[in-house]
Amino acid sequence: CFITFEGGEGAGKSTQIDRLRSRLVQHAQPVLVTREPGGSPHAEEIRAFILGGHAKHLGPFAEALLFAAARIDHLDKTIVPALRSGTHVLCDRFADSTRAYQGSVGNIDKGLIDHLERVTLRGVKPDLTFILDLPAEVGLARARERRAGKGEGADRFEGEGVSFHQSLRQAFLAIARSAPQRCVVINGDQAPDEVEAAIWAALRERLPQ
Ligand code: C5P
Repeated sequence: CFITFEGGEGAGKSTQIDRLRSRLVQHAQPVLVTREPGGSPHAEEIRAFILGGHAKHLGPFAEALLFAAARIDHLDKTIVPALRSGTHVLCDRFADSTRAYQGSVGNIDKGLIDHLERVTLRGVKPDLTFILDLPAEVGLARARERRAGKGEGADRFEGEGVSFHQSLRQAFLAIARSAPQRCVVINGDQAPDEVEAAIWAALRERLPQ
């Protein structure tokens, strides 16, 4: 099945994806971990362009189109072939991030985002989406700490201030409310073991096979 992980900065997506991957491997399940933007050679090039800071000058709509272009290649080259071969796909961010970052926070018309999503996904939808939710201040502090630890420069949204991250959080929670059969909100403000257990329990409940 196709499982996506969403959330703001510092939500703990990468840690939890890694843990879920290990659990599935332990259960002898074939699994592929991928990410957005990126996940295929050309989409990774688009990622480098966007995260290199160039796309910001284009404005949120052009940026959303770049994310969509990357997503098309990612779906065609990586996600769809893996799903067809019976491999579970765990994806770090997907279309909901475009809806939250470029749509809600970037103020792009919802109808336009809906349309863009339809033509980009062409019927492929995640079976399950985990939204790792935590207070904006906590996520922001974690993201800063992580980057300082790695000696990396600030993320492009770290300087935005808490209200930006609060809007982002609300945008993800609104997505969860609008698609309750697909989305599970997980409290990300707890120990990694507890988050992992909550994700595993939700997965078994939603996708029992
Ligand atoms: O997953 P990660 O937090 O590493 O995402 C990489 C960067 O891309 C982050 O700064 C994230 O906020 C940003 N992003 C974005 N719009 C998307 C997806 C990711 O601005 N649709």
